[in-house]
Amino acid sequence: KESWVMKFQRQHMDPDGYPSNSNYCNQMMRHQNMTERQCKPVNTFMHEPLVDVQAICLQGNITCKNGQPNCHKSSSSMKITVCRVASGSKYPNCAYRTSQKERHIIVACEGNPYVPVHFDASV
Ligand code: ATP
Repeated sequence: KESWVMKFQRQHMDPDGYPSNSNYCNQMMRHQNMTERQCKPVNTFMHEPLVDVQAICLQGNITCKNGQPNCHKSSSSMKITVCRVASGSKYPNCAYRTSQKERHIIVACEGNPYVPVHFDASV
């Protein structure tokens, strides 16, 4: 079974990619298996080295959206792409809008080693 760490990397890491065109989300959401059972409504990809994303877990704790205390916010802004399902998109033909941003990232971390397992927000 896929671990939470592997799931996080599949859904949220694309260190070497940066959207070159508006098809980025259409292709990546399908390629990373987020359109298999439904069109996942919103998903963020991060275009930063894995070590830099893992290092967010070393920042001080903050409260996550679900009330747990294991969230951490990046000290610098990071290059991200937010994929949002297009209105009128109908499963299994999942269509997405691609928007590039630079934001501080909030992730939840767990385990030993203490690594990102959940993407909470970008601010
Ligand atoms: P999505 O983009 O679908 O929200 P995600 O990155 O948030 O994906 P989830 O499947 O929601 O991924 O979370 C992955 C795992 O992280 C789950 O097992 C969840 O229980 C765990 N987790 C650990 N800490 C938290 C937290 N503070 N908030 C939410 N989930 C957490």
